[in-house]
Amino acid sequence: MGASLTKMAQRSMNYFRSFSLDHYRASDVRGLFNYSLSCCVNALLQSFSATTELLDILNKWHPSDEITGNNIPMQLKNALQAMMDSSNPYPHRYFLDCLDSHSISRYTQQDADEIFLIILNLSQKQMPDQDLAKEIRSLYEVRMETRVKCLECTYIQQVPSYSFSLPLAIHEGGNNLESCIQSFFQRQNLLHYCDRCGQKQLSTHELRLVSLPRILCVHLKRFRNDDGFTRKLHSRVTFPVTLNMGNCAAAGQSENVAPGSLQADEHYNLYAVIVHIGTAMFGHYTAYIRPTHEPTWYYADDSTVQPATWADVQDTYEGRKRAYLLLYRKMSRNASG
Ligand SMILES: [Zn+2]
Repeated sequence: MGASLTKMAQRSMNYFRSFSLDHYRASDVRGLFNYSLSCCVNALLQSFSATTELLDILNKWHPSDEITGNNIPMQLKNALQAMMDSSNPYPHRYFLDCLDSHSISRYTQQDADEIFLIILNLSQKQMPDQDLAKEIRSLYEVRMETRVKCLECTYIQQVPSYSFSLPLAIHEGGNNLESCIQSFFQRQNLLHYCDRCGQKQLSTHELRLVSLPRILCVHLKRFRNDDGFTRKLHSRVTFPVTLNMGNCAAAGQSENVAPGSLQADEHYNLYAVIVHIGTAMFGHYTAYIRPTHEPTWYYADDSTVQPATWADVQDTYEGRKRAYLLLYRKMSRNASG
């Protein structure tokens, strides 16, 4: 398995080396060379690059000489900056080396959601400036609480939780994003250990929303593990360019919501879609992104970047390219009317 993967990686390297380095740069979007099967990180970097709020936070930090080369926030900052400034086809090379030193190995197929979460977790954990670490966290953090109520003795257990992405289950057949979000917050009955009764009891279980971040990452759970085999759900999932999270999550709001932190009309605007092509075993990642202040979408497939339309993005509902991660930006109150 290991040997065949390495061979495959080698072939892939040779294939890409045989290309001239004619990466195409359109507007503020620049292509990224596929460096040792780095399509997953490449697609994520395109989305981070379109998240100018993240680079703004990282640019407030001036790493001291003691910070070593395997510091994720420093290499992320350098990569995002180099993507904007230089024409080097490998602006992300040291970032990839850095991920490699954190066991995100080259030559392996990666799960974009998993790598997204690792990058964000390490970015805040390895950030020595605690205020900036908090800013990174609050930029993406969905705060929730898990509420379990024992139907026998009515005892309620509430546990706070947070997540950098909203992991949504999808069904075979057709789905729409709003109903997937509603299901995520829906109350369910299940057997749960009750601390007061001292045994498993039929309980209600629900996730409640405490606060929403400025950048909302939605993870469409297309990969399902059945009897030890991972398979991909090719189901259709529609999603809007403007998402009203207030409507979707209204049923799931916690009583612990801070005043003003959640509104009935919490509007979000889609600006990046990480796309998966292929099967659970052999796949390729690309990204549709819309840079800040630009009405135009771009499609980034490693070193190739081309202008795209909203209709192209909508093709990822069910086409050959399937939407996997959706990145939404909270609209300002004024903009949302
Ligand atoms: Zn109980």
